Amino acid sequence: MASGKINVSVENIFPLIKKFLYSDHEIFLRELVSNATDATLKLKHLTSIGEAKVEYGNPMIEIKIDKEGKKLHIIDQGLGMTADEVEKYINQIAFSGAEEFLEKYKDSAKDSGVIGHFGLGFYSAFMVASKVEIITKSYKDEPAVHWTCDGSPEFTLVPHDKTERGTEIILHIADDSVEFLEEFKIRELLTKYNKFMPIPIKFGTKKEALPKPEDAPEDYKTEYVDVDNIINNPNPAWTKQPSDLTAEDYKNFYRELYPMQFDEPLFNIHLNVDYPFNLTGILYFPKLSADLQIQKDKIQLYQNQVYVTDNVEGIVPEFLMMLRGVVDSPDIPLNVSRSYLQADGNVKKISNYITRKVADKLKSLFNENREDFQQKWNDIKVVLEYGMLSESKFYEKAADFVLYPTTEDKYYTLAELKEALKDNQTDKDGKLVVLYASNKDAQHSYIDIAKEKGYQVLLLDSPIVSHLIQKLEADNENLTFARVDADHIDKLIQKEEETISKLSDDEKEKLKTSIETVVPKENYTVQLENLDSNAAPFIITQPEFMRRMKEMSASGGGGMFGMGNFPEMYNLVVNTNSELATNILNSSEDIQKDLVKQALDLAKLSQGLLKGEELTAFVKRSFETLK
Ligand code: ADP
Ligand code: MG
Repeated sequence: MASGKINVSVENIFPLIKKFLYSDHEIFLRELVSNATDATLKLKHLTSIGEAKVEYGNPMIEIKIDKEGKKLHIIDQGLGMTADEVEKYINQIAFSGAEEFLEKYKDSAKDSGVIGHFGLGFYSAFMVASKVEIITKSYKDEPAVHWTCDGSPEFTLVPHDKTERGTEIILHIADDSVEFLEEFKIRELLTKYNKFMPIPIKFGTKKEALPKPEDAPEDYKTEYVDVDNIINNPNPAWTKQPSDLTAEDYKNFYRELYPMQFDEPLFNIHLNVDYPFNLTGILYFPKLSADLQIQKDKIQLYQNQVYVTDNVEGIVPEFLMMLRGVVDSPDIPLNVSRSYLQADGNVKKISNYITRKVADKLKSLFNENREDFQQKWNDIKVVLEYGMLSESKFYEKAADFVLYPTTEDKYYTLAELKEALKDNQTDKDGKLVVLYASNKDAQHSYIDIAKEKGYQVLLLDSPIVSHLIQKLEADNENLTFARVDADHIDKLIQKEEETISKLSDDEKEKLKTSIETVVPKENYTVQLENLDSNAAPFIITQPEFMRRMKEMSASGGGGMFGMGNFPEMYNLVVNTNSELATNILNSSEDIQKDLVKQALDLAKLSQGLLKGEELTAFVKRSFETLK
């Protein structure tokens, strides 16, 4: 028939392709299976509109390894190509596309990861093959043809006696790519890239047990037959309508996506939009631990059911990267670098849509079953709090469903919280003081004291809570947060009435001096307060501002520079109205020292600060007093 020169201006394009694509050379299989799928889907379309007058049937795609012959076969029953079409699509069009691409990205292609993703299609076969053959028979009444190319720009095109419709691609695997002749390797690639493609893909056979006949004898042995091993699910859940799916279907799909995940997802969000861009998918909220660990099972990005990547940065808003599931969109430009992606208007819209959809879903879960939502709160709060900090659109919507739990397991929205606290926890300057703890056990005594006053204490224990509090204070006038151990409770929420001091100013001065001789100045500031005579005599507190800034700089950004390196500073609040204060004043110098030391240790103990040698000495000393 014909032989000639492939129409290409870059003479040595093959070495180029091989070089640029080397790091990601496994994608050749995805490209060839995609072409086989396209060919089949095109035929389906042509038969459905009556343009191709052939039986569509139940076509499948087959992958075969010929280890001895060092060949890999990709066979489809799609529309095939005539000799003219091979000339047109294989010899010219694809080449000009590739050529243009390489020309355009000459400088950046090498390490941008650009070609690594979609784009080179058919010619990516040369990344792993020293020679490629195409045997193809069009659905049109024309003879089959056989195209061969050995990696130089020369090709041959001759007639072939193939009679069944469709295309067979034969890769003569190059010596440096023999791994692609291994069954496990091909299976791995097919499962990674083609698991949800729309046309059944056969890879070998598997044994299947025959049903036991009714008249089976006692010693019946199960019989097996060989059946096609289909590696994909052509109709994954995300391509269906939400109304056609049950809760069980969603869970099953989660297991299909992540066979190694044994936790059930908390809930799912079905994405489905076709204007102004196309996007489908299902996102799952997994159970997350508070330490924001990097997870291995990430959201997967597909394009028309072809796996592309699990790096969804820029497409899915950052705070939702901890979710799992699938996003499928043909509208995401994949041939371009990530920085371009971020600037792409469509991509920004997709990201905003996902944020909105997630917020809407959370709101409806909250409204439909608040009880259930509250139970899940601990597992989802980190994502939501992070979302409030990073996406202003999400922050606005979050007011409707973000919860603030108390140490007594009551759950308030911000509005409810303000309402519940306003009568009792507004201070003399009209500021509403929200008390919180970060650890129920460690701050137990402080929580107790607050409760005795009739105050409610929130339990806020996510790692980013100090940032969130800072933001809430900035956005809500007359709202302030204070951790229960930030000061004495009467100082945290200051009311009009002043407690009168039992001690004179002189006595106070004396008391302060005797305490300061025992307490190390570099860690503690002694602060005398006229408190209720029943309140604890010594309390250690850590000022809210200092602690919060330290926490913020420890968890990154937002805090004050260098605060993380500041030494721990505490206040020692001494209740001048306590009996102990009077006792200290009225004792001899030796006794004074003992009393202050013991009281300081007790205060440290209730703040979890008494450790090691000091703790041992304290226990020993305390036992002595029992003798
Ligand atoms: P793209 O798929 O992006 O068009 P490719 O380089 O992958 O680019 O393929 C070029 C063209 O070759 C296809 O558009 C198609 O017309 C043709 N082609 C490739 N593989 C097949 C196949 N298995 N059956 C029929 N046509 C094919
Ligand atoms: Mg292609």
